[in-house]
Amino acid sequence: MEKEDNFADWYLDIVEKANLSDKRYPIKGMNVWTPYGWKAMMNIDHFIRKELDATQHDEVCFPLMIPETEFKKEKDHIKGFDSEVYWVTHAGLNELDVRLVLRPTSETAMYPMFALWVRSHQDLPLKIYQIVNTFRYETKQTRPFMRVREIHFFESHTCHVSEEDAQCQIEEDVEILSKIAKRLCLPYFLSVRTDWDKFPGAYYTVGIDTVMPNGKTLQIGSIHHYRTNFSEPYEITYENENGEHKHVHQTTYGMSERLLGAVIGVHSDDKGLIMPPDIAPFQVVIIPIFSKDNSAVVTEAARGLLSKLSDHGIRAKLDDRDVRPGSKYFDWEIKGVPLRLEIGGRDIENNVATFARRDNGEKGTIDLDSVGQGVELILGVISSALMERAKNILMSKVQEIDSLENMPEGRILKFGWCGCEECGHKFEDTYELKILGTPYNSKEKYAGRCLVCGKETDRSVIAARTM
Ligand code: ZN
Repeated sequence: MEKEDNFADWYLDIVEKANLSDKRYPIKGMNVWTPYGWKAMMNIDHFIRKELDATQHDEVCFPLMIPETEFKKEKDHIKGFDSEVYWVTHAGLNELDVRLVLRPTSETAMYPMFALWVRSHQDLPLKIYQIVNTFRYETKQTRPFMRVREIHFFESHTCHVSEEDAQCQIEEDVEILSKIAKRLCLPYFLSVRTDWDKFPGAYYTVGIDTVMPNGKTLQIGSIHHYRTNFSEPYEITYENENGEHKHVHQTTYGMSERLLGAVIGVHSDDKGLIMPPDIAPFQVVIIPIFSKDNSAVVTEAARGLLSKLSDHGIRAKLDDRDVRPGSKYFDWEIKGVPLRLEIGGRDIENNVATFARRDNGEKGTIDLDSVGQGVELILGVISSALMERAKNILMSKVQEIDSLENMPEGRILKFGWCGCEECGHKFEDTYELKILGTPYNSKEKYAGRCLVCGKETDRSVIAARTM
């Protein structure tokens, strides 16, 4: 299956061959995490936790179900989710008086509790997060990690004394994102979503998008500023120094298993996955190369190598199955292990291991005395190379246009927009492209005309087909 020609089929093929997820579970869009896929996701979660903990967020875990009465308090929010939530209507044989929603996200679960938790300005900022499963009834075609109905989800929720403090939180979220994305070797761009596309109930939404090889964008997360849109209906107030009661300003930040979907789509090739070293379930696979009568010596050396790497904190796997090295290479290439180490009779004589990089096929040797440091160095080089390559691909897909004639295919388009909804809808409907929004916090000054009506404007937007 060729990645460039038929991305959708190629993607499904890779997920299946690498055994990341099993979609044979008898509910469509609710897939089983296999050990290999789950390990990769747990490594991603590890970096999310690390960054959130470092910025003084506290992890919590809220109940899965939300009473309908709480769910309906913010009217835009319920409108946005009306058609995609799962309802629990019975408990045992009894019909419930108040139906329950399986959380599609947790604003309406958390905010009644925030109203109890926040009392005075000294309780602020309140910064919490959780990593849980959420549920959305997707009606579009489902696809592992990218569009599922049970979603492995990260969400942070914060409360602040003022709009400015909430804005600072969004800057911090952007900073956190850059650190996590670096681990995944994922380039992305940030766009302030149009008013008709922002999160239900938000003051504004920043979408985080990356690009797939077919030129379609994939949203991998979002950051929202709520102002007091939720704190008013949920009555989350604090007492300030003057004894006045004020509504808190809130933000949220969400990302999901789509991060893994994005990694697969961006980095893998026709041979299989390419796992970024930081999240690879196994960063190194060791393959012993036996020749006549040396199996005891080679096995011992391979085990020694494994223990040295493990001592160095590297996730290594020794493949001592009784099959030809060639078929081992093939299997681990599909699974995307970043670095392969071979050790045979001649390597032992020379006190080295032979390495092969998964990303570019480069080969060489590493001194066994300093194999931990040597491997670490190469894994770092692989990470940088993956990021560089992905960035170049993303940049190559962006094209600035100033006319509606000869609209290019498979590109992320940048153009002027006057900001009026009519022009926006007209563009989206005519070309079946989605306006992702205006670049977030861009230093670049735009000067041009609205692509639709021709009015002069200093606002540019990005539009693309989306996954
Ligand atoms: Zn216009």
